[in-house]
Amino acid sequence: MLSKTTDDATPTATPSWQEQALCAQTGPEFFFPEPGGSVNEAKQLCLACEGRTACLEYALANDERFGVWGGLSEKERLRLRRR
Ligand code: SF4
Repeated sequence: MLSKTTDDATPTATPSWQEQALCAQTGPEFFFPEPGGSVNEAKQLCLACEGRTACLEYALANDERFGVWGGLSEKERLRLRRR
């Protein structure tokens, strides 16, 4: 996601990995597809994302249930959490 600034140009508290997020350059449909839709394109993009590890840690720490985060689908994150 792109860094945002306020009117006085003070940076907001956006985590640095979100500033490098490649998913911010695409539509959310890749990362939050309709039921039965493919997440392969999103996962491929995540593989090239510099913030991938931090993104996955964020998703696990915040119990993000939906969509692709850090290159893992909902089911893959659930399996990882159970280990
Ligand atoms: S790892 Fe994937 S979901 Fe996470 S910020 Fe990067 S592109 Fe977005």
